[in-house]
Amino acid sequence: MDLLFRDDPYLETCEASVISADETGIRLDRTVFYPMGGGQPGDVGVLRTDDGTEVRIVDARKGESHEDVVHIPEDGAPSLAPGTKVTAEIDWERRHRLMRMHTCLHLLCAVVPGEVTGGQISDGKGRLDFNLPELTLTKEEITDGLNRLVEADHAVGPRWITDEELAASPDLVRTMSVKPPMGSGRVRLLDIPGVDLQPCGGTHVARTGEIGKVAVRKIESKGRQNRRINIVFAD
Ligand SMILES: [Zn+2]
Repeated sequence: MDLLFRDDPYLETCEASVISADETGIRLDRTVFYPMGGGQPGDVGVLRTDDGTEVRIVDARKGESHEDVVHIPEDGAPSLAPGTKVTAEIDWERRHRLMRMHTCLHLLCAVVPGEVTGGQISDGKGRLDFNLPELTLTKEEITDGLNRLVEADHAVGPRWITDEELAASPDLVRTMSVKPPMGSGRVRLLDIPGVDLQPCGGTHVARTGEIGKVAVRKIESKGRQNRRINIVFAD
């Protein structure tokens, strides 16, 4: 399966052929749908055939491998035969908000020191958990730090390294709970030069300015060591 969002996260649609459709969902030969992973929700959208049939997609999940995307149709959707040509279209407005928030969480890694133990992105908000017994930064200081990096409009882009290069640089891995997929020979890094560099397979905006103004909504203590920082869009 050709995962088009990896090289171009701004693609809203693509032409594709149905490979299979069963009780687990629909597989295509290529797709713009990002499957849930790395704290980022799966895309929703629609598959359209030339004869006007529409199949609403309510989620996208990883299948048996990292290259396998399963498109989950809504209940009662018409079935699609293998070989059917479709136009796959994601809900772009939602995806773009997810891309902005996802990229913002990379900035949060740059503003807050400490190991990341988990994270979650949802529509309009996001959060990271840090292993930090003492957090000396206030809500306002983190908000200011994030917005400075947004305003600086840093470039954001993927970069690939080999499994061996990653194994030799364990400091690249900020997230203990989400191990980068190794074994395929190469690992995708998300690079915001001079700001953040870490393995990430998600979708991101091209420049930090596109994130827009953000704010720390609250900082929660989840256990003795764990600080959960919650981010929202401020405009
Ligand atoms: Zn990322």
